[in-house]
Amino acid sequence: MDSNMLYLLKELVKTAPTLQNGEIDAVRVLHEYLISHGVAAQIDKWDANRANVIARIGPEDDRLPTLVIGAHIDVVPASKETWNTDPFEPFEKDGFLYGRGCVDMLGGLSAFAAAMADVQASGRTLTGRVLLAATAGEETDSCGVKRFIQSCAASIKDPIGILIPEPTSLRLLRAHRGILWLKITTVGKTAHGSMPQLGINAIEKANLILDRLKTWQIPYTPHKLLGGCSMSINRIYGGTATNIVPDSCSIELDIRTLPDQSETAIIAEVRKVLSELAYTDPDFKADIAVLRACPALETKPDDPFVQRVGNATGIHETHAIGFTTDGPLFAQLNAPVLIFGPGDGARCHQPNEAIEIAQLEKAKALYINIIRALCI
Ligand SMILES: [Zn+2]
Repeated sequence: MDSNMLYLLKELVKTAPTLQNGEIDAVRVLHEYLISHGVAAQIDKWDANRANVIARIGPEDDRLPTLVIGAHIDVVPASKETWNTDPFEPFEKDGFLYGRGCVDMLGGLSAFAAAMADVQASGRTLTGRVLLAATAGEETDSCGVKRFIQSCAASIKDPIGILIPEPTSLRLLRAHRGILWLKITTVGKTAHGSMPQLGINAIEKANLILDRLKTWQIPYTPHKLLGGCSMSINRIYGGTATNIVPDSCSIELDIRTLPDQSETAIIAEVRKVLSELAYTDPDFKADIAVLRACPALETKPDDPFVQRVGNATGIHETHAIGFTTDGPLFAQLNAPVLIFGPGDGARCHQPNEAIEIAQLEKAKALYINIIRALCI
């Protein structure tokens, strides 16, 4: 029985499911593949080019124990200039498959879809359900997973756990940090550039914040697997013309949070810094906006889901990663989350992204083991 995993992966890469193109073509490819392998699948489309695919093997009864697979179908853009070849024309070389999204994460998605196809073709009766959610927009606003949770959470009454096939080089990951992106905007007063004393310069006020943040740190207790909470000032913009005193300047902070940190508490700490500056400078005024927030993820090592997946795969050592996934959003199903997939995470979002074909095959075999151990 040939589930044609590589064929699926190549066809998905060719659709270039970036934010600019939308996921609809990739969604059609995946849907067609699943249906033609006897897997029940539906397209959930909410825009001209945005959609999810929801697929299932096992009985239709929604009270049955359900293993949920959360995979994103979108990829980050790729510029032809930085690649040696066309990023959306996949090809095989020296045991690797090259193409945008091979690693992050069309590879893991294809391996799991192929595993479902193989189990379905084997004719074995499942006692539980496997539900694959291939969702849109993970690289930008996670719109697909939010929609999936809203529309499908009620039909998953007994979740066994959630598996995210993001690239982990087939290591079992049970924790990652969260993200909190803040925009601080200082408010000033415009004036002619030749008479700066009549205005309030928002860039100068932003500079006060930058100075203060140099020696300031978000309070945290180090985490055993994840280490510390980090903060990086990654954007600054303000002013409209060389001869106008600017009345607005924004700074964007990329904060990576730990499982026991609350976003509200961090924002309160940042506010405290701003209040101190306002106390010493009556002209200082600043607002905070949250650009993006996604909590950290931690599944306990002794959780039964970790044990069962460990037994099914023979992998008992668990790790943490630095990057964020849709895992915390899927965790709203009130089930433990594990991240486990083929491909080297260091190749994500890079030119000449490539995945080892042998690892893809191994991932598919291990996914089949997981389905058998948890749902048969
Ligand atoms: Zn990803």
